[in-house]
Amino acid sequence: MTQVNHETVDVLLVGAGIMSATLAVLLKELDPTLKLEIAELRSSGAIESSNPWNNAGTGHAGLCELNYTPQAADGSVDIKKAVQINTQFEVSKQFWSYLCGKSAFGSPKNFINPVPHLSFVRGEKDVVFLKTRHAALTQHHAFASMEYTEDKAAMAEWMPLMMQGRDANERIAATRSLNGTDVNFGALTNQLLQYLAQQGGTTVSYSQKVTGLKRTADGWSAEVKNTKSGEQREIKAKFVFLGAGGGALPLLQMSGIPEGKGFGGFPVSGQWLRCDNPEVVKQHQAKVYSQAEVGAPPMSVPHLDTRVVDGKTSLLFGPYAGFTTKFLKYGSFLDLPLSVRPSNIGPMLAVARDNFDLTRYLIKEVLQSPEQRLESLRKFYPNLNPADWRLEIAGQRVQIIKKDAKKGGILQFGTELVAAEDGTIAALLGASPGASVTVSIMLNLIERCFAAQAGSDAWAAKLKEIFPAREKVLEEDAALYRSVSEQSDKALQLA
Ligand SMILES: Cc1cc2nc3c(=O)[nH]c(=O)nc-3n(C[C@H](O)[C@H](O)[C@H](O)COP(=O)(O)OP(=O)(O)OC[C@H]3O[C@@H](n4cnc5c(N)ncnc54)[C@H](O)[C@@H]3O)c2cc1C
Repeated sequence: MTQVNHETVDVLLVGAGIMSATLAVLLKELDPTLKLEIAELRSSGAIESSNPWNNAGTGHAGLCELNYTPQAADGSVDIKKAVQINTQFEVSKQFWSYLCGKSAFGSPKNFINPVPHLSFVRGEKDVVFLKTRHAALTQHHAFASMEYTEDKAAMAEWMPLMMQGRDANERIAATRSLNGTDVNFGALTNQLLQYLAQQGGTTVSYSQKVTGLKRTADGWSAEVKNTKSGEQREIKAKFVFLGAGGGALPLLQMSGIPEGKGFGGFPVSGQWLRCDNPEVVKQHQAKVYSQAEVGAPPMSVPHLDTRVVDGKTSLLFGPYAGFTTKFLKYGSFLDLPLSVRPSNIGPMLAVARDNFDLTRYLIKEVLQSPEQRLESLRKFYPNLNPADWRLEIAGQRVQIIKKDAKKGGILQFGTELVAAEDGTIAALLGASPGASVTVSIMLNLIERCFAAQAGSDAWAAKLKEIFPAREKVLEEDAALYRSVSEQSDKALQLA
């Protein structure tokens, strides 16, 4: 890709991960005359959280993640969040289908593959929960085909690796959805960036660190440092998107917008066990999610996953969470201390006070021995051979700390789009459910920050062409859901 410096652009996007790449392509589809630049700190795209080995690659659709269906005190299961994430993922699929219809975009096989999504539980209490969850979910058209079983022979067929060597008297149950996916978000990001590079008025520049942000009369001025040559330059932009992953919080603070005051970050690191032995890999073709340990945060739900990366299949188990003060995997230990401001110290101290159990849990995870890590995996795969598994470092998640009138500060596990009132700058904070729902998050950004254009006939018509059905209508209209989903599955070669 050529690295031409456009000193004045319509849109500057900081960071070349899945979020910026998606927003840039969406905006160019809506207005091909827009001049935009993506400035990325590293020497290529998708190096941080969007890299396939830094995340689990689950196409989150609420099919298997038990933390999206909380259980109330009366035993009932709330499926609202699972339905919302499912329809958001369908919106992502529509966008990817639209792009795969263009010869310049490349094949869906490079980034999305069908992998069944299973939930697996042990013990009477969790078996009752899973059965109740299945009954509640299958009432909704998005989950109608989900299967439930307590039959060990069926489970041996669904997940053979996990059933060998298991105690015959163990009380277990599972659900299976055959329409689950594994997504290589790194390959998808790179396909989006390559597609952008073929269009006029677009620059993707690497080894470029955004170090300062100042308001101007008609937008923003960003100070950008070339990390190889040390050269400084200035980019003026009418709109700036801070899609810097864990690096978005410091940039938001730099902007000084009042909407960004009071936010802090709680970094959580991660590790996986990875297996590439083809003999083992071929016995497990599924993503199997289970219950998180008591006291564990929602992102620590253990899962044993089939991963398809660059045409090769591997298994990934984890994540094992941990605590660090870095906001990016390749960040600095000073990231957390340098993010403390008079406006966020109150919320940060309140979160430290109220989440002592979480801190203790994370420290316990960090101090785990290799044998203790294998012990967690043995609950999934009793007959494992330690020689088949190696430890890898996952991406960094920066959970959101924000002000709360009652508690002073709260820890939030989702994502939050923080935008200036005048719509000239927006930042994406948080991590989960992340890459799978990028398209919905970016559509929301467009509606907030490009409200006038989004309401124009031209943009409305293009949005209708790309997205035959949005989240709300997909939640409610079963026939439309089925037909749109079927169309996307065909275009993405999933069916
Ligand atoms: C362990 C783990 C498991 C996950 N599992 C899943 C999953 O199974 N499914 C799912 O959908 N999501 C998952 N996620 C979430 C998903 O990976 C993220 O939501 C998504 O990748 C975030 O994309 P992004 O573009 O915001 O950030 P990133 O991919 O982190 O990109 C941000 C970019 O900004 C750059 N940058 C930072 N600061 C600057 C600066 N000052 N100047 C210039 N550039 C800068 C960085 O170098 C980086 O390249 C997981 C995340 C983690 C950590």
